[in-house]
Amino acid sequence: MTHRVTLIPGDGIGPELAEAARRVLDASGVAFDWEVVDAGEGVMAKYGTPLPEHVLESITRNKVALKGPITTPVGAGFRSVNVALRQALGLYANLRPARSMKGLDTRYQDVDLVIVRENTEDLYAGIEHMVGPDAAESIKIITRSASERIARFAFDYAVANGRHKVTAVHKANIMKLSDGLFLDSCRTVAADYADRIEFEDRIVDNMCMQLVQKPELYDVLVLPNLYGDIVSDLAAGLVGGLGVAPGANIGTLAAVFEPVHGSAPKYAGQDKANPTALILSGALMLRHLGYPDAATGVEDAVRNVIAEGLATTYDLGGSAGTAAFADAIIDRLAAGSSAAATPATTA
Ligand code: NAD
Repeated sequence: MTHRVTLIPGDGIGPELAEAARRVLDASGVAFDWEVVDAGEGVMAKYGTPLPEHVLESITRNKVALKGPITTPVGAGFRSVNVALRQALGLYANLRPARSMKGLDTRYQDVDLVIVRENTEDLYAGIEHMVGPDAAESIKIITRSASERIARFAFDYAVANGRHKVTAVHKANIMKLSDGLFLDSCRTVAADYADRIEFEDRIVDNMCMQLVQKPELYDVLVLPNLYGDIVSDLAAGLVGGLGVAPGANIGTLAAVFEPVHGSAPKYAGQDKANPTALILSGALMLRHLGYPDAATGVEDAVRNVIAEGLATTYDLGGSAGTAAFADAIIDRLAAGSSAAATPATTA
């Protein structure tokens, strides 16, 4: 079976990373028909918008997209394409795994966290106003339906991926109504999984301290939008930083897989940036499409090349370019030739 997938190369380093990821995924044994569509700063002049309608239409039709980073001007200029995509497509769950890799210079060797961030509400609902000239208010929206939906996603993910514990992260001691509702919703959902998945909760400030002291104690974390944004970067930092941090935005109608990092404009077009995060986002996509063996094959190939340290990019201490790094991963895939092309019956 050939999978038609929307590929958005994006801005800055996006196009060269997208090319590297596409080549690796094509070598995974799964057949893809890539529908390449452009979005971002680069298409503003042509379409008058960074997110042309045909991009949304392509993702809606194909239901799956692999996306490079897109530049968002600070302050003035167009609204974040990334936020607009999540809202337009109802991508309510942001999934960011953070797993240690041999060969990276990090403080810990045994981190294996999955951050599940609510993607649609909280302070990111964008409801802000001035109160007179010298005060501003941002409204924090938390609903039971969105909180239960993200909690259920976290527990279902835990069950499907052999994880053992979900930790809800909040500040319900201070924001008793909004974060209290989030925690209460998580507890309600946790009761349905009590026989399979352990549940606990942590206050967000304590959680941050615990993660830098003993990250190995945690498994799947579920958080409202703002804490999820911050804690997932913290988790990325524990395992090697932005260059190796993959992500997925998942909704009921579509899923968009993208790295955590941005478009790093200063490295654009230099064959220098690290493609790992986008390639590992592609591995998340393979798993989402029902190819867990192919996903593991790609992840193992990436991990082996990084552990070996002979063909890595500058940020990992190597001197290889983006394309050469991808070539080394493809060679590894060919050598390992996993049972990739067969979809799992239960994915
Ligand atoms: P950034 O992630 O683009 O870059 C920060 C620094 O991290 C870079 O200067 C570089 O040193 C390093 N880096 C990032 N990715 C790397 C890679 N793959 N390989 C090697 N080094 C890498 O963050 P920024 O500079 O704050 O943002 C640049 C632009 O990207 C902004 O316009 C921002 O809005 C946008 N952005 C987009 C997304 C997205 O599309 N999802 C996410 C974050 C930022």
